[in-house]
This record gives sequence, structure tokens and C-alpha cells, in this order.
Amino acid sequence: MLRLYTFACEAIMEGNTITGAIIESKSGREAIKAKIVIDATGDGDIAAKAGVPYFMGRESDGKMQPASIMFKVAGVDVERGVFPGGFEETFQIPAGDIQELGREHISKPAGHVLLYKTTLPGVVTCNMTNCIGIDGTNTDDLTEATIVCREQMDEIIEFLRGFVPGFENCYLISSASLIGVRETRHFKGEATITEQDILEARIFDDWVVTKASFNFDVHNLTGDGLDETGAQKEFKQKKGYTIPYGAFVPLKIDNLYLAGRNISGTHMAHSNYRVMPICANMGQAVGIAAAMCAACETTPRQLDVKNVQKRLMELGVNP
Ligand SMILES: Cc1cc2nc3c(=O)[nH]c(=O)nc-3n(C[C@H](O)[C@H](O)[C@H](O)COP(=O)(O)OP(=O)(O)OC[C@H]3O[C@@H](n4cnc5c(N)ncnc54)[C@H](O)[C@@H]3O)c2cc1C
Repeated sequence: MLRLYTFACEAIMEGNTITGAIIESKSGREAIKAKIVIDATGDGDIAAKAGVPYFMGRESDGKMQPASIMFKVAGVDVERGVFPGGFEETFQIPAGDIQELGREHISKPAGHVLLYKTTLPGVVTCNMTNCIGIDGTNTDDLTEATIVCREQMDEIIEFLRGFVPGFENCYLISSASLIGVRETRHFKGEATITEQDILEARIFDDWVVTKASFNFDVHNLTGDGLDETGAQKEFKQKKGYTIPYGAFVPLKIDNLYLAGRNISGTHMAHSNYRVMPICANMGQAVGIAAAMCAACETTPRQLDVKNVQKRLMELGVNP
């Protein structure tokens, strides 16, 4: 059953087994019972309520990647425009180096210039607002971050109009309705994917996500731009890596899967697997596994991963 406009707010537990979730919506407070629960909330709200152990953000100090509101401008002459797609990419424009100009003319902690062409004529997506030091699981922080990022938009658009070729007449047409949160909880699972696993492009025996490929996209946790641990253009490992089944199976709780950016991984590994194509592949694998558990009356910890791999291979997913 598809249910939109609904917030999962509590786990229904029988000992260490999750048997459903309490939800809140316009219809009021309700309960949904389930044989298997998948927490794909990004923040792992239900896994946290169920009592799965987790840590926040970076292991050393709990700091988390910044939050941003993406927005779109129209009226861009894309033929004359420049489009830096990463922190380590820059362009020389008439006034100077575009990233240096951004740092000079846009108030901190914004200041980086990330612009993406869209399929719509003259419409460009801007990933340039930035709010640091917020906890995406705290509503007061989310409110503050939303205000901070919305206030940054006007100045960013003034910068684009004033300095960037092709953007002289650009204007705001839309912005995300929710603040985008990059990082919060990292749960402990039967397996934990690490930076080293990614650097070695490891093929795990219990792979369920394959050919995962991205860079260490760590936005600066304390300022603008890329964090010193981040590697975008300079990221050398071009081969895909796999994600093991155990990273989706949380410790301590039965009948629960993790999926998306909240799986079991380190802060550095998360900066790589948090991107949309990799998270989408996680959803495919975990969806298949959950359906098998429900059909066979078994638990994620007991399910034979070979059955999941067999089904994935039938669908063209190979290590
Ligand atoms: C500003 C920004 C820019 C990014 N740019 C890129 C990019 O260019 N390319 C890329 O590949 N990735 C990008 N990412 C990363 C990527 O978008 C996310 O990491 C990824 O979407 C995470 O997927 P997910 O399924 O874990 O969570 P989400 O896609 O966030 O999905 C979680 C869903 O659960 C809902 N939800 C949350 N809590 C609850 C609850 N308690 N009850 C019910 N529903 C709930 C949310 O509303 C949401 O719909 C960006 C992220 C941000 C924040």
C-alpha cells in the first residue's frame, strides 16, 4: 500500500523484533504492522527508535556534512555559460577565477560555485547554499538551516548575475521545499563498509550492490568548499566496488533492514555511497531481500544471501 504524506515516528517492538511502525498524518496517529520493516528514511528514524546502535557524523568529533537547499534559475544563456560541476573544477571568466570570485563575493559558509545544466532550455540547477554545524535529526537545527540557506539565495543570484557569463539575466524559478541533509546517523550492522573497502574496490562474497562508483564527496564540515579529506577530481579509484549484505542488516534488532545513506558504514565510506545511483541500487537489493524474508517467514539475519544474489543476477546485476 502506497501512503504519501505520512511520517513514521515510532517503532513497534516485541523484544528485539520490530513488528511495525507508528505513523502520523492528517488521518491522525495510526499503526502499520509488517513482517519486515525497511528503514529508508535517510536518517534512520525508525532504526534509532528501535534501538539499533549508531554514531553521528564523523567518528572523531560527531561533526556532520553541511546541509543545502538546491535551487534553479532560468533565463541563462547556456551557450555562453560556464558550469563548474565540482569543488575542484574552476573556470577563468572575465573577472577572474570563478571559484576565487565566489569565495570573495558570497558570504561564508557559502562561497563555492556549483552549477549544473538541466534538460530545460536556459534553466540551471545551483548547489551553492551551505549551512554548517547543524544536526539533521533536530527540528530546531533543520529550521535554522532552512532560513540560513534561503537567505543565501539572493546573494548567490546577485553574484551569478554580476560575474558569470550567460547568467546576467537569470532569475529564481524554484527551490527545494525541504532542506537537503547530507549526513546524520551511521548505524552498526553485521558488516561495515569502510574507506579502504572502496579504495581497494573490494568484491565482497555477500555482495548485493555492485559496480558502485563515486568519489569521496566530503563537503567542508566547518566552512565552505570541499573538506580536506574529500577527493572529487583527484579521486583515483575508477573501478566499481560492492556493498555487502551485512551492511543492510542492523545489529541487535530482528526483521529490520537499513537502506540508503543510513546503512552501516564509516563517515568516509558514506561520503561515497550516499549518492543517488548507489542508494537506488541499495533499494533494489533490500527490496528483493525483504520480499524473500516475508515470503519464507525468515529474518534478514537468517536469509541465505545467495538467493538474493541469484535474483539480482537474473535482473542483470553482476559483481
Ligand atoms: C544538497 C544535496 C545535493 C546532493 N547532490 C547530489 C547529486 O548531485 N548527485 C547524487 O547522486 N546525490 C546527491 N546528493 C546525495 C543524495 O541525494 C542523497 O544522499 C540520497 O538521496 C540519499 O538517499 P536515501 O534514500 O538514503 O534518502 P532520501 O533520498 O533522503 O529519502 C528519504 C525519504 O524518506 C523520507 N523520510 C524521512 N524521514 C521520514 C520519516 N520519519 N517517516 C517517513 N518518511 C521519512 C524523506 O522525506 C525522503 O523522502 C545530494 C544531497 C544533498 C543533500
